[in-house]
Amino acid sequence: MNTKNPINICVLGGGFSGLYTALYLSNHPQVKLGHWKITLVERNDNFLFTPLLYELITGELQRWEIAPTYQKLLAGTSIKFCQHIVKKIDLNNRQVKLDNDDSLSYDYLVLGLGTQNYWADIPGLKNYALTFRTLRDLEQLQAKIHYLETLDRKHLRVAIIGGGPNGVELSCKLADRLGKRSEVLLIDRGNQILKGFSKGVRKASYRALGSRRVQLYLNTNVEEIKDDSISLKHGEQTINVPVDMVIWVAGTQSRILVNSLNCQQSNLGKLLVHPSLQLIDYPEVFALGDLAQISNKKTSIPATAQAAYQQASCAAKNIAAIIEGKPLKSFKYLHLGDMLTLGRRTAIISSYGINISGQLGGMIRRLAYIFRLPTMRHRLQVLRNFGQKIGLKIRRFLRSILANLLGQKSSRKYLK
Ligand SMILES: Cc1cc2nc3c(=O)[nH]c(=O)nc-3n(C[C@H](O)[C@H](O)[C@H](O)COP(=O)(O)OP(=O)(O)OC[C@H]3O[C@@H](n4cnc5c(N)ncnc54)[C@H](O)[C@@H]3O)c2cc1C
Repeated sequence: MNTKNPINICVLGGGFSGLYTALYLSNHPQVKLGHWKITLVERNDNFLFTPLLYELITGELQRWEIAPTYQKLLAGTSIKFCQHIVKKIDLNNRQVKLDNDDSLSYDYLVLGLGTQNYWADIPGLKNYALTFRTLRDLEQLQAKIHYLETLDRKHLRVAIIGGGPNGVELSCKLADRLGKRSEVLLIDRGNQILKGFSKGVRKASYRALGSRRVQLYLNTNVEEIKDDSISLKHGEQTINVPVDMVIWVAGTQSRILVNSLNCQQSNLGKLLVHPSLQLIDYPEVFALGDLAQISNKKTSIPATAQAAYQQASCAAKNIAAIIEGKPLKSFKYLHLGDMLTLGRRTAIISSYGINISGQLGGMIRRLAYIFRLPTMRHRLQVLRNFGQKIGLKIRRFLRSILANLLGQKSSRKYLK
């Protein structure tokens, strides 16, 4: 192979599909020898492990743990990080145009740009509602919570629109963060929350929401949002509810950049791919994660981190196979289960018919996600921090027992 002209693999998007594909590929001997060059294009400087974003609201985790910088993650790999916004992708000429007017040419392309927030056409929604997908969203939410907490008020009311996992997890965490004086309303136009989830997950979620006095407004449409109120329609009745904060978590949609591509797409704007994850009509382009859909599959693969992570491994193997002239494999999704956080330190885990909830669920979920974090070095740092916190708690617990048995002074002697 000619080292002067390495094969250019360009990965667009540093999320679950893009970053993990780049990391898998970076372990290939041809990359280490410099024969294949990987460039990762991402607009942000931090990766975001979205499933643990809720833990930043309650301070259970710190930002560095779930949002490490790409610089840190990619140190020691031969992946070239290019922090730019992709402006245009020319599939026919194999060119990617960036916001600084530079163009990257590629031999193989990975599309992992995800989706974006869907803002429904509800008066006042975009002006007054917050949302919860990115670090910027989190910052805005934290600022609002901080403001509400400083108010000398006996009662705070928060409305969360969208009864999917995002809405349920957010309701529990916010209820815990804001405490007794808060009232959380969870609104959905359907007749149940967590559509498509198992009975066990739904039961645990209803229990967690109930114990936090979260008010469920099902079969309810949001008509209008104002600065200090929300208008809800249930059947023929419309009510106006005063609120201090509204959060919209009711859906996603394809990015305009993705929709503008000259390739086959589903009626929901997802890029259609073969089971090998290659774009229809463009075998050198792989599309995965939330933006893609396998064309001949009757049941669609869920738009989750779990699926994107599995697809990343398949895409990396298939890119290597295509270059090496080996047969390509079809992607097979393996549903490992569902994990939802249901408040501070608690979660429900449902896997292969087994449900574990409460604090044990919370602990297992945390550990399972730590092992999914990108790079071994980062995993170990977060794990060490977790271990220290647990160790501190165990020490405090033992000290309180000893203090009861021996008195305060002697217990300090035994447990420093
Ligand atoms: C709050 C929250 C909680 C979640 N919890 C779970 C969970 O518990 N379990 C689960 O399985 N899934 C969960 N998900 C879903 C999961 O995050 C997504 O399914 C997953 O991130 C999809 O991966 P992706 O690579 O397709 O897209 P993303 O991870 O969204 O990555 C896309 C990347 O592309 C970048 N990008 C986009 N456009 C451009 C551009 N023009 N130029 C440069 N870069 C660009 C973005 O900045 C982003 O980094 C959650 C999502 C959210 C928002």
